[in-house]
Amino acid sequence: PTLPVRRALISVSDKTGVVELARALASLGVAILSTGGTAKLLAESGIAVTEVSAHTGFPEMLDGRVKTLHPTIHGGLLARRDLDAHMAAIAEHGIPPIDLLVVNLYPFEATVAKPGCTLEDAIENIDIGGPAMVRSGAKNWRGVGVLTDASQYEAALAEVRESGGLSDATRFALAVAAFNAISNYDGAISDWLSSLQPDGSRAAFPAQSNGRFVKLQDLRYGENPHQSAAFYRDLGPAPGSLVTAKQLQGKELSYNNIADADAAWECVKSFDAPACVIVKHANPCGVAVGNDSADAYARAFRTDPTSAFGGIIAFNRPVDGEAARAVSKQFVEVLLAPSYTDEARQVLSAKANARVLEIPLDQVRADGPTDWARGRNAHDVKRVGSGLLVQTADNREVRADELKVVTKKAPTAAQLADLLFAWRVAKYVKSNAIVFCANGATMGVGAGQMSRIDSARIASIKAENAGLSLAGSVVASDAFFPFRDGLDVVVDAGAVAVIQPGGSVRDDEVIAAADERGIAMVFTGVRHFRH
Ligand code: 5GP
Repeated sequence: PTLPVRRALISVSDKTGVVELARALASLGVAILSTGGTAKLLAESGIAVTEVSAHTGFPEMLDGRVKTLHPTIHGGLLARRDLDAHMAAIAEHGIPPIDLLVVNLYPFEATVAKPGCTLEDAIENIDIGGPAMVRSGAKNWRGVGVLTDASQYEAALAEVRESGGLSDATRFALAVAAFNAISNYDGAISDWLSSLQPDGSRAAFPAQSNGRFVKLQDLRYGENPHQSAAFYRDLGPAPGSLVTAKQLQGKELSYNNIADADAAWECVKSFDAPACVIVKHANPCGVAVGNDSADAYARAFRTDPTSAFGGIIAFNRPVDGEAARAVSKQFVEVLLAPSYTDEARQVLSAKANARVLEIPLDQVRADGPTDWARGRNAHDVKRVGSGLLVQTADNREVRADELKVVTKKAPTAAQLADLLFAWRVAKYVKSNAIVFCANGATMGVGAGQMSRIDSARIASIKAENAGLSLAGSVVASDAFFPFRDGLDVVVDAGAVAVIQPGGSVRDDEVIAAADERGIAMVFTGVRHFRH
């Protein structure tokens, strides 16, 4: 049924539209109660209004911390209209029912968004009485309408004007919106406080996040210019993860920059030796280990100089002047490293647009007790239509002693090292992934094809285009070869050793083909699909 609106309580921080609303309600015969600042504004606008303190007979106190926290208010909001005992109880205590509540809260989020906001400022902007009233009114939605946003005023007013009150459907919808608003409000408080220490300083790595995320920044647009986007971080980011990056120079990061930078960073972090990873469109187009950053870069760049143009380049060791000079010769979108020497910073400053990110790795513990301590994402999340896919992250590493040699020929020690290198890279290449390597560097990368044989062909074509010989190389395949044809392609191209998971129903056929071609092949027993 529609319940009449006879008495409204209005208490708002954001006063947008409130004078018009109150004036219209008053003209419909609704009695208006209001708190200090709101009551003053309404009275000045010539609207008949009763101060809450006059209504309760108790003054506002403690600098406004206690205004509406009074049984006369909460009794008027919470009494069940359908229970005679409730109505008799409030009547006995002289508590008039409140039918409409108009409340918006102290601006907590806007306050903490201001630069230099102190813990004290933030605390004073935690609204207590407002949410309490909203909860009371929304809980008792069968009797009370609750407006928590100026965008709701017009429709609610039209309904009161037309029918003298609000319908069940409207009060229920308003209650749901009210609890959403309260939940978001409490979430913002919880997030912000979780990022601090008691002295108000930022906690380097706050407590575990429980799957909560805080917005780091709005982005100019998403994957494409017609999409809007924002960048969020886990409340408790793993040490050494991309979201902990400090941008030292360059243009604002874009959505695609961030996605590609993450791919490059996660890959380069997985190497122990000095390494360089160059990523384009989410796939590594050059990966190498070397004596130092400059050496690793030179070797990674050779894999695919064409694709490296406009790439994202990541290092797991400091970037010095030499590495910076080398990188500066190419068009680089984003550079990532644990640190930069002064000389490197100076060299890079000549490339004003290049985004240079510093991500300290000193808190990452390779032998840490959890993925988080090892600087690894614990979970991997993917959006699907109206749902989420959540899995533990692909953090499985394969050790040399876990490999199973399945061919007559075993790989040499040097080949074994390259096989493990290739396997590590393949994990970061979109499936189907085929990665040729030699001497700790990629020689040809085939990514993201719908058939494994096409990825194999593309990898060898790319090596040829880059002027690299695959004779004597090793190759990794992120999943098993379903037929011998894919294996024949990589051996025709020059590969002499193969690493792959195994597990196909035709493993025997593929192993026989490897023996027939006189190459070595090892099985990992682990697959690394990446989509
Ligand atoms: P006004 O400008 O009318 O003085 O204050 C309006 C604000 O006070 C609203 O945002 C409302 O949520 C908040 N408020 C209402 N009652 C109380 C209370 O008892 N304690 C606190 N801390 N805030 C209140």
